[in-house]
Parts: sequence; structure tokens; C-alpha cells
Amino acid sequence: MTATLDPQSLADATPLMKQYWELKASVPDALLFFRMGDFYELFGADAVEASRLLEITLTSRDRTKANPTPMAGVPHHSAHGYIQRLLKAGKKIAIGEQMEDPAATKGLVKREIIRVLSPGVQFDLESHEAAWLGVALREVGQPQGTPSPWTLACLDVSTGHSFFSTGMSAAALAEDLVRHPIRQLLRIDGDLPEEARAVLRSDTLVEDLSANTLSFSGAEQFLRAQFRLATLEAFLPSTTAIHALGLLAHYAARTQRLDRLEHLQLPRPLHHQQSLVYGPQTAEHLDLFPTPDHRPNLLHEIQASKTSAGARLLRRWIAEPLTSLTEIKNRQCALEVLGEASGPRQRMQRLLSEVYDLERILGRVHTGLANPRDTRALGLSLCQLPLLLENLNALDTTRASSPSTLLRLQKSIEHAAQVLQALGQRIVSSQRDDAPMLAREGGIFKLGTHPDLDRLLGLAENGSQWLITLETREREVTGIPSLKVKYNRVFGYFIEITQAHLKNVPSHYQRKQTTVGAERFFTEELKTFEDEIVSASAKQKALEQTLFDELLASIRAQTQDICQAAQALAELDVLVGLTHLLDRPGWVFPILDDSLALEIQKGRHPLVDRGEFVPNDLTLKPEDRRTLLITGPNMGGKSTLMRQVALIVILGQIGAPVPAASAQWGVVGSIYTRIGAHDAIAKGQSTFMVEMTELAHLLHHANDRSLVILDEIGRGTSTYDGMSVAWATLEWICNRVGSRTLFATHYHELTRLAEKLPALKNAHMAVDSRRDLESHSELRFLYLLQEGPTNESFGIHVAKLAGLPQPVISRAWEVLESLENEKPAADSLRGTGPSATSGTGPSKKALVPQPASDSQLSFFAPSPPRVEVRTEIRKEFLPHPALDALRAARLEEMTPLQALNLLAELQRQSKSP
Ligand code: ADP
Repeated sequence: MTATLDPQSLADATPLMKQYWELKASVPDALLFFRMGDFYELFGADAVEASRLLEITLTSRDRTKANPTPMAGVPHHSAHGYIQRLLKAGKKIAIGEQMEDPAATKGLVKREIIRVLSPGVQFDLESHEAAWLGVALREVGQPQGTPSPWTLACLDVSTGHSFFSTGMSAAALAEDLVRHPIRQLLRIDGDLPEEARAVLRSDTLVEDLSANTLSFSGAEQFLRAQFRLATLEAFLPSTTAIHALGLLAHYAARTQRLDRLEHLQLPRPLHHQQSLVYGPQTAEHLDLFPTPDHRPNLLHEIQASKTSAGARLLRRWIAEPLTSLTEIKNRQCALEVLGEASGPRQRMQRLLSEVYDLERILGRVHTGLANPRDTRALGLSLCQLPLLLENLNALDTTRASSPSTLLRLQKSIEHAAQVLQALGQRIVSSQRDDAPMLAREGGIFKLGTHPDLDRLLGLAENGSQWLITLETREREVTGIPSLKVKYNRVFGYFIEITQAHLKNVPSHYQRKQTTVGAERFFTEELKTFEDEIVSASAKQKALEQTLFDELLASIRAQTQDICQAAQALAELDVLVGLTHLLDRPGWVFPILDDSLALEIQKGRHPLVDRGEFVPNDLTLKPEDRRTLLITGPNMGGKSTLMRQVALIVILGQIGAPVPAASAQWGVVGSIYTRIGAHDAIAKGQSTFMVEMTELAHLLHHANDRSLVILDEIGRGTSTYDGMSVAWATLEWICNRVGSRTLFATHYHELTRLAEKLPALKNAHMAVDSRRDLESHSELRFLYLLQEGPTNESFGIHVAKLAGLPQPVISRAWEVLESLENEKPAADSLRGTGPSATSGTGPSKKALVPQPASDSQLSFFAPSPPRVEVRTEIRKEFLPHPALDALRAARLEEMTPLQALNLLAELQRQSKSP
């Protein structure tokens, strides 16, 4: 079934179905929810798909026809849940609503599409996480021959937040797409680099727009009107950024059939100079954020925010740690003051748990989706402002050395409390606690809200009493004790009399309906009452709707104030939440300075900081200890230690305390990591390629303000190649980059570099091992970082711990011993290489290609950054006489027989060595 109907079928269709197909043609890529009375119906392919996804019955319309149209429907009052399920499944939904009251309309009711919802344009999300709508645009005006950079812009329509990032390579674009799970991506003329396509999640809805959807000048005009600004340069630095944001805002507004979305906030740059930058995959390597496989992660570990906006903000803080010493100090001071004032802090936490998601409520208010529960939630939230202010005022900010963060928050909340107090109180005092989900059902407002409403509510109240009086009176007059006055939605009010008493029914009773065992009657008196009550109820609902619309207008008028209050509340929430880290034993504020050193005493891993964890000291110094080369057995704790250092730096630079006895470092500007490769297979790239791509980025971008963490560089390729790359990388980092670097390796040969590179120091993870010839198995990991290199890798111990069969382990020991007994003439890498084969196992020379002499290892000299890697040339690639003969043969001058003879000769030659 296509989105449109063929002309013949359309001509034959009923007026209603014609109307349907006309609407459907305007939203061909959406499932059209077509309102018919109390149901939303779906037809054709939409019905088939919805019935499959929602597990609802698939029927058909015009069943008598040869080709009936498939049909499925959901009740309008429960449509919300169904729509949410379809959005989760990545579908786009158009709502076709009745624009006239069917009861008051003759013929076909007018219907229109009032909104289109999609995974990236929704307002009612279950999770507090943003649902990003993204667009990636190629930047124009690049010199010929250079690859054009990309701009990415993203908008979370539900909260009005947006960000952009410009001048990105295809790889950096892919990186940002991974970091910000994008629910829907707009692609202009299908243009998206391969790197970005590869990382898009399967549930991301990709929508192609044509390049002439909105021109640059159209986008600029749209944004200027959106933000009521004469120029956009102050916050959007490039034309592509303006174009991208304009496209997003325009697209989102159009889906809601609005000129603009008033709740959108000014976009912010994703990477700015005031924040610490992460290298590719660093957030993933360090487990900063939740992943689909639910690994422990930093955000979850420290999250204690009470509000959704606070939870979102903390995520942003971790994504963008601070690099300004003053700002870090300000946050530390704010936390310190809050931490010491346990009374106000606990009270504020309680108050914050009464604060709802103000940004999302505003989003719904501005798109016509807000219901009475939203407004009540807004009112309750606003009423917390004066109480929060009281507690903020009770804090002793004079004790803090830089109280500016708290003073700023105090000011914002004071202002918000002043300007929003009236609105908050108006809502809370007028709205009922049990306000319904739908405004048109009435029952929103309390008595005392409006004199007309009071009168109508009084009528309904008196009506109930009147019915009781009527029932009592009629029972007495007729002598029928079981006489009942009842109501149902279809027949309205009636008097019900059981069969046994029918003979006593007075003559003025008029029959209305017969049921099993009873008859239903009405009287003139009851009919008059019914008319009055029905019209009063309709009047009440209409009046409540008007009052609700007025309330929404008042809320809209204070959008800016509410946005500012929401931001201040979110920041206060994150700060109050983070104070719980101060209560953890052994967590302290680090001291930050502008040096290039780093010193951590008794540091622990924030995600494993429990039980038997062994703390470690670690020092890096700019002069003679910038890089630490860490050796030690597998499972010895190298990765844990390195990640721990990075996580401590991140925690410290969001202003939080860290798990250590003490810590001090010079502000880190960027963190680059190369650890593991658990994501490589999913992307279909070879592990080594991924490793090298990340390493390349790191070596190009890291500088002396970076923290670099490299784990087992080179392990994805042959030993010799890998070691050469690792060697050259270390030289480059020490000589050129100058970053604070932790480099874990199992190439013990690299430890010799410490003799040549003054910035490099060796360290190792200590183990307690006993080399017992009988069991060969005693190995205890101490998880302690110690000075100097280690010269054993304990691989067989670890293999045994991992459960390899005993015979394999015993044989491995034999092989190792035979290898170690060899005394090489010139093992230039270890200085103790093999020379002869013992006969009990393979020669080490055969296992690891060895260079002939030191003179060949030109890359061992520390200075030249260029690496010339020489690997042993395999015999089959050496020149061969048969190949020379083949190249020399002049085929065009040969007869077939001569050619055959040549082939036979070549074959003979190829068999000889
Ligand atoms: P490596 O990188 O040397 O192979 P890991 O860092 O992966 O080793 O650590 C291996 C395991 O050792 C971890 O999963 C953890 O259980 C344990 N471990 C690491 N560091 C410590 C420590 N400091 N204290 C206690 N256990 C640790």
C-alpha cells in the first residue's frame, strides 16, 4: 500500500476516505492517526504497521468491496500510550483531528493535521534525558581540494535546549554523534560522511530533506524572529551554524503547525574554550555515561539530583568539566558551604524533590499540549522558590573564600521568587489537587476561582441533593420502596421501577426504556431538571476551558522568568546533590593550580572505591617525570590505575571532591585516551586500525595541558610492528607533546627508553610471586604502583588463574625455560636474547623477529620523530628467478606452444628454493 491512492480508487472512495487520503498525502512518511468520533483510526499500510507494532486488531473498511482497506484504531482517550510506543519504535506520527463538533455539523466534519510527532520531536518523554533532533551540514567555501568540515546542530524540542559544533572533520562529527544519542537526524540531500553513517544507532530516524527546504537567508530570518534579535553573530559564529539551527527550529515549529516555538533557548557551542576537551572515545573508555549494557559509570555513581533538569545538567558538567581555576574554586566553595550546613541542605533537597521539569512543562505549554496536571506541577514548583530562598539565605557564605556561585544563585532565586510568586500561588490556590489529564473534562478549578464557575458548581452540587429529595418523595407518594432515580450516559436521568411494582406506577410517568426485570420512566419535572443540569455542566466545562486558556497565557507571558528559574534550580540541585560526595570517607577537594604537575596521594577508583581496593600514590612532574611507563602483569591493575587518575581529574574539574587522601594538579585542558577496543567490532573496523586512528588524533591534538592515557599501544598488530609504534609514540610524546602521560605496556623493552628520555620514568604494578618449579603458580597481585620497571610478565601465572588446563600450563613453563636458557649473541632489544635452540622447545628467535644489530634500530635514538620500521621480509616475497623470467617474457611474440613451454619451465623453477 502506498501513501496515496491511485486516481481510480480515489474517485470511487467515499467523501470521508477522500478526506483521509488527502490528509495522508501531506504526511506520506508518518502514521496518520485520523480522528473519527471517539477513536483515532489508521488505514491502509499505516493500519497494518500499527497493528503489528501495537498488537491491536487489524480489520478492514468496506468489507463488502473486492479490495477492502485495512483499518485499525485506538480509543482517543488512551491514544497517548500508543503514540509513545510508536515513537519509541522510531516512527513518525501525524495527528489528524476533527476541527468541528460532529454533533453541530451537517455532512463531513472538517479535519486537519494539528501536529506531527517523531522520535526527535516529542514533548512527553518518560526519561529526563534529552531526545536530540540533529542536522549535519557541510560547511561551504573551503579551498578546492580540501575536505569540507562539518557543522552539527542539535535541538531538544522538549526542553528548548540546543547546541552546535563547527569545523569538524568527518571523524569528529561521528564522535559527537556517538556522544549525543540522536533520536532523529535530518540529512540534506542525503549528504552524510561514511564515518557518521557507521555510528548512527539503528533506532535513529534518518530523514532526508531537500537542499531548498530552507535557504541560509530563510534560516537567518527565521532565527532572528525566533529569538527577537537583530543579529545572530554574538552567539552563532558561522553561517553554517545559523543555517543548521534555523533548519532545526523551523522544522520543529512546522511539525507543530506553529510559526515558532517560544520556549526555545539560545543555542550554545558544544566545545568551548572554557571546558576540558575529551579525545575520541575518551568518554566511552572512561565509562563517563550510561551505556546500553549498563556498565558502572561516573554519571550514575555521583548522580544525586532531585530534579530532571538537575540530572541533565550534571551530565553536561561531566561532558564539559571546567578549565578556569576561578570557576572551579567557586564550585568547590559552594559545595563546601552547602556541605557544612546540613540542616538547610537537607531541607533544600526535600524542597527540590517537589520541583518538576519546568523546561518540559514550558515546551508543552507553548505547543498546546499542556494539561491541568502540568500547570499544577508548575505551580507547586514555583511555590518552592521562596522556601528555597529562605534556606539559601541561612547559609553562611561569609566563611567561603569565593562565595560567588552561591551569591549568584541566591540572587537568581530571589528574583524568580519575586516575579513568579503570584503565578505560583494563583495556580496552587485555584487548581484542584485531583485536576484531570484533559482540560475539556472540567473539574480543574476549585470553588472561589471565578463567580460564574461557583454558580455552576453550586448547581451541580444542589442537583445531587435535589435528586435525593426527589427519590425519597416519589417512594413515599407511590409506595414503591425500591424506586430509584438513576443516571447513565446514554439515557440520561430516569426513574427505575422493578417489574413487581409496575402496577403502582403513577399515570404521569412516561416510559423511557425496558430492561430485564425493570422499566425506566421519566417525568416532566425530571426532564426539566436534566436540561438544566446538562446545560450547566456544558457551561461549566466551557468556562473552565476558558479559565485554563487564560492561565496558560499568563504562563506564556512569563516564559523567560520561568526559564531562568529553571536554570537556577537545576544548578542548585546539582550542587546540593554533589555534597553527598563530601560525606564519603576519604573524599577530599583537590587543590588546582596552573602548574604542569600532578600528585595524588592514596588515590582510589571512584567506581570501584569499596572494600579491599588498594589506594595508590602517583606523581607526575614537568621536568623529569612527565610520562610514566607502567609495566606489570596482566590483571595487575594498570588500566584501573590509569582510568582512576583520569576520573579523579574529571571529578576535580567539575568542582567535586575526589577519592584520595590528597590531590593537587595543574588544570588539565584535555584528556586523550587509548584503552581497549570493545567498540571496534561493532563498527566493522579492524582493532589495530581503530587503535591507530585514535592514536593519530591524539598525537595531533594533545599538548602540554593534556592528560594522555595509553594502554597497551600496539597490541593489535605483530609484536615487532606494535613495539615500534609504541616506541616512536613515547618518543614523540616526551619530546614534542609534553603532556602528562600514563603509558601501560607489556613491551618490557620500552623500559630502556628511560635512559634516553629525561621526562620518562618507569613504574610497575607490584606482585608477590614465587616461582615454584613444582606448581609454578604462586602469584598475588598487590595492585601497588612502585618505582622502576618489572622484567617479568607473569603471563603463565595469569593463564593458570584463568583456568587453562594443567598440561598446557606445564608445557608453557617448559617452553619458557627453554627460551630463557638461550643466550643470544645480539639480542638488542632485551640485551639477553636467545642464541641456540635447546631442543626442548621452539627458538625465541623464531617466535619474535629480531633485528640484526643495534645499528638497524635507528628509531631507538630518542630524537628523530620519524620512524623507519624494518620488519623481516618473508621468504615468499623475496625476488625469485621465476618472477624475473615471467616479467622478461614477450608474450605477444610467442606461439601457444612456446607459451606452454615457458609455463612448464616457470613451474619447475618455482619449485626449486
Ligand atoms: P591490567 O590493566 O593490569 O590488566 P586491570 O586494571 O584491568 O589490570 O585490573 C584487573 C582487576 O584487578 C580489576 O578488575 C580489579 O578487580 C582488580 N584491581 C585493579 N586495581 C585494583 C586495586 N587498586 N585494588 C584492588 N583491586 C584492583
